[in-house]
Amino acid sequence: MKKYFFVFLFILTFCFGAVGERLVWNSGLSLLAFLEQNKLPLRLYYNLSNTDKELASEVRVGSVYYLLKNADGMVLQALIPISEDVQIHIYLKNREYFLDFIPIVYTTHKKTLVLAVQKSPYQDILEYTGDVVLANEFVNIYRKSIDFKKFMLKNDKIAMIYTRKYRLGRAFWVPEIKAAVVETHKKSNYLFGYNESFYDLSGREVMGFLLDMPVKYTRISSRFSYGRFHPVLKKTRPHYGVDLAAPHGTAIKAAASGKIIYSGYRGGYGNVVEIAHGDGIRTLYAHMSKRDAKARVGAMIKKGQIIGRVGSTGMSTGPHLHFGVYKNSRPIDPMGIVRTAKNELKGNKKREFINLAKSLQTELDRLREVYDFEVQKAYLETEALD
Ligand SMILES: [Zn+2]
Repeated sequence: MKKYFFVFLFILTFCFGAVGERLVWNSGLSLLAFLEQNKLPLRLYYNLSNTDKELASEVRVGSVYYLLKNADGMVLQALIPISEDVQIHIYLKNREYFLDFIPIVYTTHKKTLVLAVQKSPYQDILEYTGDVVLANEFVNIYRKSIDFKKFMLKNDKIAMIYTRKYRLGRAFWVPEIKAAVVETHKKSNYLFGYNESFYDLSGREVMGFLLDMPVKYTRISSRFSYGRFHPVLKKTRPHYGVDLAAPHGTAIKAAASGKIIYSGYRGGYGNVVEIAHGDGIRTLYAHMSKRDAKARVGAMIKKGQIIGRVGSTGMSTGPHLHFGVYKNSRPIDPMGIVRTAKNELKGNKKREFINLAKSLQTELDRLREVYDFEVQKAYLETEALD
């Protein structure tokens, strides 16, 4: 896949004198600054609708984007990801520039990792996969059920089933753990990913992250949506948060304790504060009329502490809080995680979960049986799903 991309670039370079570049989105780079930097018309940004301006503010620092220029340095095409599904597409057609949001083409690989622990679960997973996010997530999901330092012994077994996305031949976005087992002291501790959380074999949630509602709102003016693209209309837009309408000046409170990682102005989001809460959870509060003086980058914030006031900066519709929640950089529905108690699955959901868990459990058990740990301490297998 990677090879093909470079062959493609080579052909373009050879035939048209065009040069493709793979670049990293810098901190502080807004879409507007990007257009300016590359001598692209600023109307591409100013002509966007409010919701599209908001969406354009989702480009993450560190994201990899692609730029294609001709021999004179003129941009022919740019592809900038804003999530794992959607990217900004800027292109030249009949000497005019256009900007569109298009789906990202990626392939999903199912991976299985099984290993006999040598150093620690974290270090071993990192060593065999090279995936920091995966190693962190694995430790996180078991944090509340097993104390690895106290109970893990050398050669205890770990097995895990997860998925990874690939774009132009490179790993893209973050891994997703589907199921895992840790076998220690002759006991198998299974966990299964379900509805953005993790559950044990009996359907009890083990690692639900609980958030408080950050604002007293009068109504929900726009719900969260992944806005899967309509293949024909190519029009649906995702909305990576929930819009909570509230009077101008209403207090906005931190949904959970954490550390402020961003406080400033960001394009369509206007005044923004972002908080990292640990466990890979991050919250975003946008369109604030005012950021609180204490909401500075690096500051530790307590759950319920005021971080700013409701406003409508960054867009012209009425005052509201755009509240975003991300898990390992992936946007998730805030209304599913704002709650005060852990989930216990019931009825149809429980039956669906138990069926899924049973088949994954069988697979995890088979993984630990088929491999010979005398020969090798770890086995990583990959299977393309699409
Ligand atoms: Zn919004």
